Amino acid sequence: MPDTGPAPEIVTIPCLKDNYAYLLHDRATGATAVIDVPDAAPVEAALAARGWHLTDIVITHHHWDHVDGVAALRAASGARVWGAAADAHRLPPLDHALTEGDQVVIGALRGHVIDVSGHTIGHIACHFPQANAVFTADSLMALGCGRLFEGTAAQMWDSLQKLAALPPETLVCSGHEYTMSNLRFARTIEPGNPALISRGMKIEAARAADRPTVPSVLSEELATNPFLRAADPGIAQHLGLAGQAPVDVFARIRSLKDSF
Ligand code: ZN
Ligand code: FE
Repeated sequence: MPDTGPAPEIVTIPCLKDNYAYLLHDRATGATAVIDVPDAAPVEAALAARGWHLTDIVITHHHWDHVDGVAALRAASGARVWGAAADAHRLPPLDHALTEGDQVVIGALRGHVIDVSGHTIGHIACHFPQANAVFTADSLMALGCGRLFEGTAAQMWDSLQKLAALPPETLVCSGHEYTMSNLRFARTIEPGNPALISRGMKIEAARAADRPTVPSVLSEELATNPFLRAADPGIAQHLGLAGQAPVDVFARIRSLKDSF
């Protein structure tokens, strides 16, 4: 285990219509990061409510709904900005340009950078073992994955395999509240999956109470997320793709979701 100290705190912040930003707070040093800034105001309110000072901003990818509030937050806090070197030309100015394997340093916390290209080229995820959390934005999502705007199905499948290999108890902090739509779709792929049936009831209860469905737990994604389950022979069979390579089953699932 990496170091010790009090467990870090994660705060989920709804932004815009269906985006999420996250605060990651190191209780040992007081350092506080935000992962993605769809909008500065709700992030500033969450910081003020806790008396925390923002030290770091981590950007997952270049889409406006993940970066629009970065400049305002940086100006207000002097926080350092971390983002993908591959996307430096289309991100707000970076203090730290990252490639896969690099470390993000938030006080005493260390985050490992994972290239999760697919939704965009240059999309990164960041895994913080001390927080038992991975910030995935629009790569792996609750019961879903991001649309393939720039990358190929093979790239996204490869990215999802890296995330699937993290410890199963890892919290998956993803970028959008798309879970009800993802649930309706997942039920068409695996109608008889008992883990999906019971997770579906939990999701419906959470949304009926206007509670976020994130973070989710990697083990439940492995058991229910059709995009992670493309190697399952039952799914291939259900789609008429028995014996096909998982990446091809994944590509079919992704294209079915696009027109769902
Ligand atoms: Zn995006
Ligand atoms: Fe997004």
